[in-house]
Amino acid sequence: MTYDVAILGAGPGGYVAAIRGGQLGAKVCLIDEGELGGTCLNRGCIPSKAFYESAGRMESLRRGAEFGIRAELGAFDLAACVGRKDKVVGDLVGGIQKLLKGHGVDVLRGRGTLMAPDSIQVTGLDGGKTVVTARAVIIATGSRPADLTGLPVDGRRIVNSDQIWGLTDLPERMVIVGGGVIGCEMAHIYSAFGAKVTVLELLDRILATEEREVSRTVQKTLEARGVEFRTGVRVQGAEAGASGVTIALQGGEVLRCDRAVVAVGRAYNSKGLGLEKAGIELDGKGRVVVNDEMETAVPGVYAVGDVVGQLMLAHVATSEALVAMHNALGKKYWMDYSVVPYAVFTAPEVASVGAKEAELKQKKIDYKVGRFSFAASGKALCMGEPEGFIKILSDSDTGRILGATVVGAHSSDIIGEVALAMRMEASPGDIVTTIHVHPTMSEVILEASEDTMGLSIHKMGRRSAKEE
Ligand code: NAD
Repeated sequence: MTYDVAILGAGPGGYVAAIRGGQLGAKVCLIDEGELGGTCLNRGCIPSKAFYESAGRMESLRRGAEFGIRAELGAFDLAACVGRKDKVVGDLVGGIQKLLKGHGVDVLRGRGTLMAPDSIQVTGLDGGKTVVTARAVIIATGSRPADLTGLPVDGRRIVNSDQIWGLTDLPERMVIVGGGVIGCEMAHIYSAFGAKVTVLELLDRILATEEREVSRTVQKTLEARGVEFRTGVRVQGAEAGASGVTIALQGGEVLRCDRAVVAVGRAYNSKGLGLEKAGIELDGKGRVVVNDEMETAVPGVYAVGDVVGQLMLAHVATSEALVAMHNALGKKYWMDYSVVPYAVFTAPEVASVGAKEAELKQKKIDYKVGRFSFAASGKALCMGEPEGFIKILSDSDTGRILGATVVGAHSSDIIGEVALAMRMEASPGDIVTTIHVHPTMSEVILEASEDTMGLSIHKMGRRSAKEE
């Protein structure tokens, strides 16, 4: 079988590349041993967001009386939540299957190994072998949860982020090892469901790549909901027994829980695929090395997504995949990482794009800050979500927006406006002269932009622009 492009891995990198290839008239083969949609759809973004919805609704119900709703809150039914998640995932996977078929993409189920830069051997689920040849190859094999020495994952007592979304029994006490994105999202979800959650983080703060005030706000909010955070803690090992898990910390302390979750980062799926034998370069961490056209050291072989490991985000994988597919078909596209919005689905929600203040200080860039608090937003108060803030950073000389961080309800839905503004090289002034719908959360972007000039209408205490 000979194709224009063969793609290894059907996650948000691989399947999107395949659809785009089909749209452009290419003959494409998509190879995966697992389900279509990869980690994002089956074990990551989508399952966790289905759970996130359930968590949000539990919180709403707990606060029902505040909104005039007198209802009795029964126990949380985790099995029903898992069932709903399975339905959502099934619908989306089915949708992708139809799209691939509609675009003439051949899907091969099996494990692919690169035999040569233009040839992949696929070992089917029944053990049968097929060789696929293609003019170009895209590696989109993703990543997997990283292991932690001394914490043997068994899928029931000690679990990782691949396994947790299928478990239907709600543990009474849960310990999450790792206070990064996954750890904090899980802490929010499972504490909302009713578990007593403890997060153990090695560094001195959770969400350590975010601005300090973001880490503080999320920790404070989750603490108020009963989550315990322990930072600067090193886990030495864990042991699962019939009655639970025993976790040993450095210094001799022992913790007990019903379920432990390992969330200490992700490892790249770059080994055992024949990549090095084919001349493809991996860096010291095991990431596939690519240029800004997403091409590896071997011409005609591209790599995208987590296996490239620039930013482990589904939407970045998708963006890289489009670049790679266009280039594989003879076009000239470049990957640009200067504007990458992302969100962390905790309580409150966090969303960010572009530069952080610490980075601007370090680079000695003269910048302005525009801030606005959710407590002064009419929509936030109506929703009963006054917690949070937005901070917009802009270049003092050029006026261009350099970045923004939003902490608060629906921040993930509004960060796109700032991302677009940055792509258009807009300034806070451009946002200020854009009429925003009232009352909506997007108004906080308008107010923060006004605040850059000291002119936020719903804020006191700033000097006027004239004085400045
Ligand atoms: P992470 O790197 O965000 O966090 C891992 C945390 O574990 C770090 O804070 C680290 O200091 C800590 N840690 C490491 N070893 C430890 C130890 N021995 N004991 C205690 N803590 C330890 O990784 P993650 O949370 O596993 O997420 C993996 C990737 O998936 C990230 O790149 C993330 O961007 C991505 N992801 C994104 C989203 C989203 O966009 N909403 C959601 C989930 C995951």
